[in-house]
Amino acid sequence: MEGLKGGMILELPPASGTPAAGEGKRLCPKCGEETESKFCSPCKVRSVYETSALKAYGDLRVEAGLPFFGGFFEDSVYGYDLRFLAPKIKDLASEASRYFSAYIKVTKPKTVVFSRDQRASGELLKGAFVATLKENGMDFVEIDGLMSTTSSPFFGAMVARELGHKILLFHTTASHNPPDYNGFKVFHGDFTHNMFPATLESGELVKSEDVHKAYAAFLMERFGDRPPSKLKFDFDCVFGVGWEIQKHILPIIAPGAKPIREEPRADLGGLKIAQPPEVHEGQKGLSFCADGDIDRLVMYYNGRYLPLSRFYAILIEHDLFDEKLLVDQRTSIQIREFMKERGAKIIQGGVGRTTQEIMGAKLDAAWMEENWHSGGYKVKGLRFFWPEASLGLMDWLKALEDVGVTKFFSTPVPDPVLVNAKIQCEPNINERIWEKAPGYFKDAAVTRIDAEDGVRVEFKDGHMLLRESNTECGQVRVEANGQDAKVANRILKAGTAFIEKIK
Ligand SMILES: [Zn+2]
Repeated sequence: MEGLKGGMILELPPASGTPAAGEGKRLCPKCGEETESKFCSPCKVRSVYETSALKAYGDLRVEAGLPFFGGFFEDSVYGYDLRFLAPKIKDLASEASRYFSAYIKVTKPKTVVFSRDQRASGELLKGAFVATLKENGMDFVEIDGLMSTTSSPFFGAMVARELGHKILLFHTTASHNPPDYNGFKVFHGDFTHNMFPATLESGELVKSEDVHKAYAAFLMERFGDRPPSKLKFDFDCVFGVGWEIQKHILPIIAPGAKPIREEPRADLGGLKIAQPPEVHEGQKGLSFCADGDIDRLVMYYNGRYLPLSRFYAILIEHDLFDEKLLVDQRTSIQIREFMKERGAKIIQGGVGRTTQEIMGAKLDAAWMEENWHSGGYKVKGLRFFWPEASLGLMDWLKALEDVGVTKFFSTPVPDPVLVNAKIQCEPNINERIWEKAPGYFKDAAVTRIDAEDGVRVEFKDGHMLLRESNTECGQVRVEANGQDAKVANRILKAGTAFIEKIK
């Protein structure tokens, strides 16, 4: 892995096997039986690998005289991270403490780092973290102030490089979920690249403001000595913590930008994707909306949401992008073919942020998701695989300015329509979808999205994904994409009829 020489701090999902121990068997957290797939059908819950942090967490519950299944198993959603409605978890501090201990047990780090964002329950979780680490006599680093999902792994990388060993990093955030939610993103790894503009004073409490200044200085290396952009636009931070980074960047790269809803608030509103949030209603020209922590930044033009692949298609039409690009499974075939016809190096990626990150790292490619997660941007010759919209923004503004905003958005590229539906069914239906779909959709190419995942059904004029949600057990998502609304709805109808038939 080209990009991973010298290490990389990447997410370690709670139900996954630990890299060192391998995966082992998959177990149902409720009945304890071994499962063949991601779900235990009778119990309707997601299974966990026997070497995973969640399995260790359940064992710690048992040691404390509690049933294995309870706490975060019962009242959280776990996928690439863990998210829960904080007031719903009984004795949150104890459950969090077990969760921290479980990760420490399976990764055996020498140093553990903790950061939090602006959510109200973050302070309680920080207290639980400090108490747990002190009890265990472990070395830890805590940060004074608020951090974001992207400045946190950057800081982790700084710590790992300075100490010369692997670190474990907990960041508490629920991204764009409503205010009462919280969650944990856990990062793990080492890092030896020398790319930091500042070093840490060891032994002192680290201030988030210092990290953000260092992080912003690092990100600004991609911008270089370019003159600032003259574009004017609203930049909506939805009261998330992302502004803590962006305040060191935006005034330099685009002094005409007007930040709105910028100060972090515990009761942030969250991102409503695909429709402009109310404050953007009737907006003219260019505007951006962050998802709270700015690992995702959505672009609107005249109040209209733009899928990221369409933006890339315009870049490619103007010869402004020549890297390998990993698109996601939702990317429309019209846009994909449009980009390929123009010589772009397009790679079909998967579904989900973590998948894209890992594939991007293996293939040394820039990666994107239709919902504006993007990554693989180069800074000082090193690709950043975790998503970082601050870097994307620098490139996007340059392209918009070079072409001219009006001309840019009137560039003729396909304008596909995406429609979707959710259908309730028995859990663990991906296998059945895979078994039945090729015979059912005889006029289409049916491929599997990924081992254990659902299918992709590709027609001449559009395509759809049929898959059980990774986070909502027993919920099938039909995502149909067509060259116009008529085609998209026809495909959606075919997809829902198929699921209704086999469910
Ligand atoms: Zn079970």
